[in-house]
Amino acid sequence: MFCTTLFSGSGYDEPFTENMTQLIEYMQKGGRFRLVEGHDDICRYCPNRESEGCALGTENVADRDRAALEVTGFTPGRELGRTELLERLGQLKEEDFRYVCKDCRWQEEGLCSYALLRERTKP
Ligand code: SF4
Repeated sequence: MFCTTLFSGSGYDEPFTENMTQLIEYMQKGGRFRLVEGHDDICRYCPNRESEGCALGTENVADRDRAALEVTGFTPGRELGRTELLERLGQLKEEDFRYVCKDCRWQEEGLCSYALLRERTKP
């Protein structure tokens, strides 16, 4: 939810970035998606993916997923469209963003921010 909204073209490697770009285009064209627990379509091409989790720290990723569900109020299995997602993300406070994205390298490198979240979720 957060990562597709704040994506700026940087990724772990080319297949990951290409897949992310295609997923975002699908969403922008009105494609619907379902929230899942564990590996999702974004993880599919991630070079850090492992059969049982993530080489960068499964618990860290799982915690972030849990935090994203908590602040949005969405539950796994929920089907969403991009408009609904952006509407919900646009209602979040800065502390919600910090809760979900804290310690993520992309936020620490300045690629993701609450200001960008506000910008991308403008009606
Ligand atoms: S800071 Fe990390 S977790 Fe948050 S949106 Fe950016 S890439 Fe995703």
